[in-house]
Amino acid sequence: MGLEESLPAGIALTSVEKVLGLARKYSQWPVTMGLACCAIEMMAAGTPRFDMARFGLEVFRASPRHADMMIVSGRVSHKMAPIIRRVYDSMPEPKWVISMGACASSGGVFNNYAVVQGCDHIVPVDVYLPGCPPRPEALIHAVLVLREQIGKEPLGVHRREIARRAEQAALEATPTHQMKGLLA
Ligand code: SF4
Repeated sequence: MGLEESLPAGIALTSVEKVLGLARKYSQWPVTMGLACCAIEMMAAGTPRFDMARFGLEVFRASPRHADMMIVSGRVSHKMAPIIRRVYDSMPEPKWVISMGACASSGGVFNNYAVVQGCDHIVPVDVYLPGCPPRPEALIHAVLVLREQIGKEPLGVHRREIARRAEQAALEATPTHQMKGLLA
């Protein structure tokens, strides 16, 4: 059935939230940032074999001010943690984060004093991608999952309230320099 038959009066009603959600859903620009071995898989996702460009994602932005998606690809050392947060803070709103691999999500096999036991102590994470390392196809799938979330995301005060609660939870968590993982 064509649009004219399904909408004989030519009128369609929807919410601003839904229209903007649809527009945002298909326009992520990732920031250029690689941390460890997972970053090699992230780079591979941009090559012709996996072809991230099919989804309009291949242009990794060199400046965080041009980007709205951060892929934390690899373990986060305590030394890198403030730098990751600075990159995140430099990105304009709205912005999203994918935690790529076991190390980024939980410290992985690096259960020691040098590695942050999960990047969600540094930045609010939208999608956790398991694996060591996850394959490029899995990263592309994580982006598609994120897009589904973005399409349904609330705007304005609702979105700010969600971000405020996520930040509050992060502030109340154990400080990263006090984490000892399984050594506690
Ligand atoms: S999850 Fe595996 S591949 Fe990724 S950074 Fe950790 S050790 Fe490297």
